Amino acid sequence: MNSELKSLYQEVIIDHSKRPRNFKKIDNFNKEAEGFNPLCGDRLNLYLKTDGNKIIDASFQGQGCAISTASASMLTEIIKGKSVDEALKLFEMFHALVTTGGAPKDETQLGKLAVFAGVHEFPARVKCASLSWHTLKMALLNKTDVAKTE
Ligand code: ZN
Repeated sequence: MNSELKSLYQEVIIDHSKRPRNFKKIDNFNKEAEGFNPLCGDRLNLYLKTDGNKIIDASFQGQGCAISTASASMLTEIIKGKSVDEALKLFEMFHALVTTGGAPKDETQLGKLAVFAGVHEFPARVKCASLSWHTLKMALLNKTDVAKTE
């Protein structure tokens, strides 16, 4: 990755961490889950409003590092309007991206999430980036435990 592209990627992450999107508790959510990354201390609550198999709205609240906040912010943007199956597929793609750094065959589906590819070089940060996604999976599968990255 050239340095120009790298700094562009960092800008996206900094922007989302400073001005997180959908940082609130939506009024009439019907799914929620809590996530905790003990390694870094990141905590978040994810709220979803679903209609049948479709995710209509998503939001989050919590406190965490720049990577975890930016990841949660971008997650809430990208999953809106997706089906539960599509969101779970995105989870798999995102997880592969941050653990291997390699983009999936159809990387267009990941869109802006591709900015997290560099995270795989920093194993401790992988958990920060994937916390919101683990939490999403729990919310979608109606699990009640706290999502942990360990
Ligand atoms: Zn973190």
